[in-house]
Amino acid sequence: MVSHMEGCEIMSSDRGSVLAERTLVLDVGFRPLSIVSVRRALLLVLAEKAEIIHESQHVVRSEKLEFWAPSVARLRYHVGAPYRRRAALHRKAVFVRDDYLCQYCGRRAECIDHVHPRSKGGEHTWENVVACCRICNVAKGDTLPENSRFHLQRVPRAPESIAVAVALRRGGPPEWDNYISSPLSLSA
Ligand SMILES: [Zn+2]
Repeated sequence: MVSHMEGCEIMSSDRGSVLAERTLVLDVGFRPLSIVSVRRALLLVLAEKAEIIHESQHVVRSEKLEFWAPSVARLRYHVGAPYRRRAALHRKAVFVRDDYLCQYCGRRAECIDHVHPRSKGGEHTWENVVACCRICNVAKGDTLPENSRFHLQRVPRAPESIAVAVALRRGGPPEWDNYISSPLSLSA
């Protein structure tokens, strides 16, 4: 069975679209871990490394078997820290993390601000960038935080990579919401 899968002998009436679907993979504790292709998820299931938690509406067929494509699967074994990689900094994900609100005044954010200005050695990292309105951005300029009248409303944090992936995909199927309630607040 597994060898069939590894030999790419999955058939389906709408093979291309089903196998292009994605599966949310959870860890043993039902926490979101990654988003993988349906094919990869099925290989994990057939190798008994994962179990299907939620099936999608799509059928995947092999010569002898039919499966509902997994929408959510859970690993049966513990994975270590390397799987919870730090997410690459992404402009749009910063806006999502900060609710598109200026982190200084609460108005609608239009730009990204480096809390500790880059011109004064500030890093381009999750912890040093926030969503910001144009007015605050211009008024703050390259003032250092300790000399500034601009104070953050909350501490900027680095989200987990799974949260960024979900945010950038604008969410997944509704059933994913059971495991990812607030996409970028997972690491808060
Ligand atoms: Zn502002």
